[in-house]
Amino acid sequence: MFAKLTNEAKIKFILRPRTPIFIKDARDGGFDPTVADMQFIRGYKNGERVPVIPGSSLKGVIRSHAERILRTYDEKWACNSTQSQCQPNRQQPAKKRYDDSCYACRLFGNTGIASRFYCEDAYPVDPSAVVLTGRPHVAINRITGAAASGALFSVEALEEGDFLVEMGLKNFNHWQLYLIALVLKDMDDGFLPIGGQTSRGYGWVRVVDAKVTLRQYGAGEGEFVLKGHLSQKAVKLSGYEVAAGGYYREVTLSLFDLLSDKVPYGNLEKLVREEEGK
Ligand SMILES: [Zn+2]
Repeated sequence: MFAKLTNEAKIKFILRPRTPIFIKDARDGGFDPTVADMQFIRGYKNGERVPVIPGSSLKGVIRSHAERILRTYDEKWACNSTQSQCQPNRQQPAKKRYDDSCYACRLFGNTGIASRFYCEDAYPVDPSAVVLTGRPHVAINRITGAAASGALFSVEALEEGDFLVEMGLKNFNHWQLYLIALVLKDMDDGFLPIGGQTSRGYGWVRVVDAKVTLRQYGAGEGEFVLKGHLSQKAVKLSGYEVAAGGYYREVTLSLFDLLSDKVPYGNLEKLVREEEGK
């Protein structure tokens, strides 16, 4: 499916905690409410062991929220992983597998088609500025909701520290880029927490200084025109400085400009229907 590159979008922003964030290290043992088992996940960056926000974790919350947004237009726009998951026949050509998948799968992939969206692991901009603290919690009996007597456990949460997030899309259609921007706007506006313990108020973040670089492959001149991968629908982006590299042209803009009047996108439903020619 990616033999030919049509376009690419690279998104970069600073993820800044508004409330404590907790992301559990999956390599820890089972649920044993002791201090050691509720450690914030760490990874290696430049040989140093530092807290990390895994790309897979971010991709997971972004996909779930994108599915919720798609379902506000039509239940069938996003399959349900427990009941009606898309399972396109792998013997079929790529285009057919794509057409046989719901919109969520067309963006994030399934067993038959590749994801157009990726998200890298996010590391601290300045590891020395990261503040992790252990917060005591009372263990709650999951059945009765009552506090289990004497069971106090501690969650090692990220309290402060900026993380650099890099994600992007390859060979995308306009609605897919727009949908990612909508999700990140909701994340910044406080509608989408990340990580665990969110029922305790954890996981609220700011999406700071979000920029997107849009690259259109192929030569061209004049104003920047971004084409969709499948329908080739052309959208003109005026007023942005164009950088050209011979075989491509690109512009960099504030990510949330995509949701404003500065970019003639309109709204998600219109973009989906246009791209699909309905
Ligand atoms: Zn699906």
